[in-house]
Amino acid sequence: MSFDLIIQDIYNQVKEAQDNGKVASYIPELLNVNPESFGIYFSANNQVRYGIGDCGYKFSIQSVSKVFSLSLAYSLKGEDIWNRLGVEPSGTSYNSLIQLETDHGIPRNPFINAGAIVITDILISCLPNYRHDFLEFVRKLSGVKSINYSAKIAVSEKAVGYRNIALCNFIKSFGNIENNPEEVLDFYFDICSLEMSCEELSNSFLFLANQGLNPHSNEQVLTKSQSKRINALMQTCGFYDESGEFAFKVGLPGKSGVGGGIVAVHPGEYVISVWSPKLNEKGNSFKGMQFLEKFTTESRLSIF
Ligand code: GLU
Repeated sequence: MSFDLIIQDIYNQVKEAQDNGKVASYIPELLNVNPESFGIYFSANNQVRYGIGDCGYKFSIQSVSKVFSLSLAYSLKGEDIWNRLGVEPSGTSYNSLIQLETDHGIPRNPFINAGAIVITDILISCLPNYRHDFLEFVRKLSGVKSINYSAKIAVSEKAVGYRNIALCNFIKSFGNIENNPEEVLDFYFDICSLEMSCEELSNSFLFLANQGLNPHSNEQVLTKSQSKRINALMQTCGFYDESGEFAFKVGLPGKSGVGGGIVAVHPGEYVISVWSPKLNEKGNSFKGMQFLEKFTTESRLSIF
C-alpha cells in the first residue's frame, strides 16, 4: 500500500475543507502561531517515513507531553504509580476539579491535568536533576538533541495557570503531592511547553509502536506490558471528553494537546502525527481529527 499517496490525497482534501475550530487562547502565547498551519508525519516500524505540509515546524506540544512524563515515571517506579492515580476515563474536561473531592485527591487518569500533575510530582521525587533528565529522556526517544522547553510558553501559562494552581494545591491537601506545589507547577508548565515538530513526535512515539523498545537507541524503555498499558490509556483517555469519539471514528490509541497536535499509534505498525492549531469545542485539533478519521478509513489500518 502506498501511504504517501493516501496521505497526500487526504491532506489536500482536509486542507481545503472549512475549519470551524479556534486556536487556544487561554495561554496567551499559544495565539502566536499561524492558524492555517497544517502538517502530517508518518513513521512506520519498517523504516517507511513520509511527511507533508508543516511537518518540520516546531509547535507547542502541550498535553501530548503527558505521554512522555507518564512513560518516564512508569519506567522509574513501575506499578507503584497506580497507588497515586487511576486508569479510568474521567468523562469531564481535562482541567476539572469536580471528581477530586469525592476521589480523595486521586486523579482518574494520567492524561487529565490532575493526573499529569501527580506524575510530575513523582518525577521530582525520583530525579535529582528532573528538568534535565526529562529533556534527555525525550531527546533519546526522538533521536533529536535540539528538543527543548519554551520559556516563553511556560511563563505565559504560569501567569494565567489559576486552574492548575488550584488543582495542585487541592491534591496536596489530600496528601497526594509530596513536593512544594510551586515547584511541581513550574515543572508541569515546563513539560507542557516542549516544542516539537510532527516529524520529531512521530519518531519519538515509535517505542509505543514497538513494544517499549526505542528503535533509535535500541534500548528497552518500557516493558511490553507497560507499553501495552500506555497504549490502552491513550485509547481510553487520550482525547479529553472526546476519547470515545476518537476510538469510534479513528480506532487508534493517541494523545492530543491544546497546541493543535495529535499523535496516534498503531502498535506493531506505525505512528502518525498531525498538527493544525485550530481546535474543536472539545479542545482537539479540528483538522487533525478529520485527517485521522479519513486516514484510517482509507488505509484500513486501525487496530479494530
Ligand atoms: N498546559 C495545558 C494546561 O495545563 C495543557 C492542556 C492540554 O494540552 O490539554 O492547561
